[in-house]
Amino acid sequence: MKVFGFGAQDADKELTPLVFDRKDPRAGEVAFKVTYCGVCHSDLHQVRNDWKNTKYPCIPGHEVVGEVTEVGEGVTRFKKGDTIGVGCMVNSCMECEKCHDNVENYCQGPIGFTGTYNGPGKKEDQNTYGGYSSHMVVREEFGIKVPKGYDPKYVGPVLCAGITVYSPMKHWNVGKNTTLGVAGVGGLGHMAIKLGKALGAKVVALTRSEGKKDKLLNMGADEVIISENKDDMKAAAQSIDVLINTIPVPHDINPYVNLMKPDGSIVIVGNLINFENVVPAPLVVNRISIAGSLIGGIKETQEVLDICAEHDISPDIKMVKMQQINDVLDTLEKGNDSDFRHVIDMQSLHD
Ligand code: NDP
Ligand code: ZN
Repeated sequence: MKVFGFGAQDADKELTPLVFDRKDPRAGEVAFKVTYCGVCHSDLHQVRNDWKNTKYPCIPGHEVVGEVTEVGEGVTRFKKGDTIGVGCMVNSCMECEKCHDNVENYCQGPIGFTGTYNGPGKKEDQNTYGGYSSHMVVREEFGIKVPKGYDPKYVGPVLCAGITVYSPMKHWNVGKNTTLGVAGVGGLGHMAIKLGKALGAKVVALTRSEGKKDKLLNMGADEVIISENKDDMKAAAQSIDVLINTIPVPHDINPYVNLMKPDGSIVIVGNLINFENVVPAPLVVNRISIAGSLIGGIKETQEVLDICAEHDISPDIKMVKMQQINDVLDTLEKGNDSDFRHVIDMQSLHD
């Protein structure tokens, strides 16, 4: 099928309109018309080749929702007309221990999981194209069912931003007796505040942006600390059990280590590039861990969307047109965004 999309041809190029082919749905696959797609900071990293693994053309988008147009032979989970969500993965080996444990995001198969775009993993000669496009095809096991009554425009951000913060919360047992810290409050961070509250935690938001303070308190944060205010950071020493760090760039992590209670864990989800000068002594004397976490499995992704529907949790979104994408990416790059998540209304690609 002929598909319209927006993608980058190189790291220093803007996204431009592209036309390409996708295979019609084969057995076990579902084709759908994309209706909305969230814009994740990872889209920017991937377009700019920050992780040195980008395949071009790079057609991003892994916070996708749409309407099923056709199903391949044997598909049982979806039918024409259904709403379907697709997050960061479209395939995995489905045979390894991790896939059997429903954590396909840590697939140990020969090429790992297949990313919704820039996949499959280590296969240099193949490329997947994401949700900045008019139509997609996915293996039915990787489609997420959208609960009745949950507005499709909110679905996308739950499938990456939401799951990426929810999965570590579950893994590190965030709940009623936990103080959860959230460092950097954009797409991922604001979902961490909302989901942390849903799990019963006390939530402390750490932001550079004084202007976000009231919004974060309204969202449910119990406290907001301006991370650049050294006195406030000192006053919060040893107060946090689990800190989800979503800051997308290399930064000094030592001030965050000082916020941790003994046995606390800092979970890195944002910066994949490096941390310089991590001072080990405060980690050692208080048995503090620095860990990392990558998105979440399909089962857990369905779980977090169901929880959002049940608890009436939705991301704070700003709707944009596909043609505005380069401006949106510029805003994310500058890091001074006061909107928490941009969502592309794909209607403009269907007109
Ligand atoms: P956003 O751009 O929406 O939010 C990032 C937030 O970090 C900003 O709102 C800002 O918060 C803060 N920030 C931005 N720039 C800087 C800077 N230069 N120095 C310090 N703080 C900064 O990004 P997302 O939430 O979409 O993604 C965050 C990161 O998580 C990205 O690196 C992304 O690639 C990664 N990611 C990782 C995943 C995983 O599986 N591990 C999955 C999805 C995304 P404030 O104004 O509050 O300071
Ligand atoms: Zn993402």
